[in-house]
Amino acid sequence: MQKIGIMGGTFDPIHYGHLVAAEEARWQFGLEKVIFIPAGHPPHKVSRKISEARHRLAMTRLAIESNPFFAASAIEIERPGLSYTINTVRDMRNTYPLTDIYFITGADAVLEILSWKHIDELLDQCCFIAAKRPGYRLGRLKTKLPGLRKEQLKRITVIEVPALAISSTDIRQRVQTGRPIKYLLPEAVEKYIREQGLYREN
Ligand code: ATP
Ligand code: MG
Repeated sequence: MQKIGIMGGTFDPIHYGHLVAAEEARWQFGLEKVIFIPAGHPPHKVSRKISEARHRLAMTRLAIESNPFFAASAIEIERPGLSYTINTVRDMRNTYPLTDIYFITGADAVLEILSWKHIDELLDQCCFIAAKRPGYRLGRLKTKLPGLRKEQLKRITVIEVPALAISSTDIRQRVQTGRPIKYLLPEAVEKYIREQGLYREN
């Protein structure tokens, strides 16, 4: 059975945390490829101003360029309405019917999945790979996600990813306050942020 990974996120901007997590998941699970899908209208980020989708997509494309196993998709951006993971997974199921789908997230995000739309269907349709940094104690998923059945919990695997205190929020704040972002994200993305004047104002 073919296996593909989906890395969803706002990617505002994409950084090495995302890239390292995706690459580690690809390698550990033997994924044929990982598709990066920037969210169009993330339901949990409606309160903050998000950069235009075209910028987030462009930065994602620049960031993955050097990895032949990575691809980017605009399906969430092109779909009207809020971006729910379930719709994306349904689309992927249609495009890749005979494929196991692995949804890659950060450990922080996986603890929120109980609030996600159609979580039962989601856990039937795909497996989850939750990236946590070494030393971060996630605790036992079973107690953190009390609503899930045993078979559902089995579909969530936690992996360790190194060096990942990096976040988009911190990068945006750094740009705004003139602190360096070099080495936190690919050079081409850094250059794009500079050229397009992103994140300069609040
Ligand atoms: P923000 O600070 O704006 O929330 P972010 O850095 O968390 O941005 P997102 O686009 O929200 O980035 O994250 C997309 C996915 O990547 C989420 O599943 C998130 O948990 C995961 N992720 C984000 N940062 C890291 C990191 N440093 N290491 C591993 N996974 C990460
Ligand atoms: Mg986040």
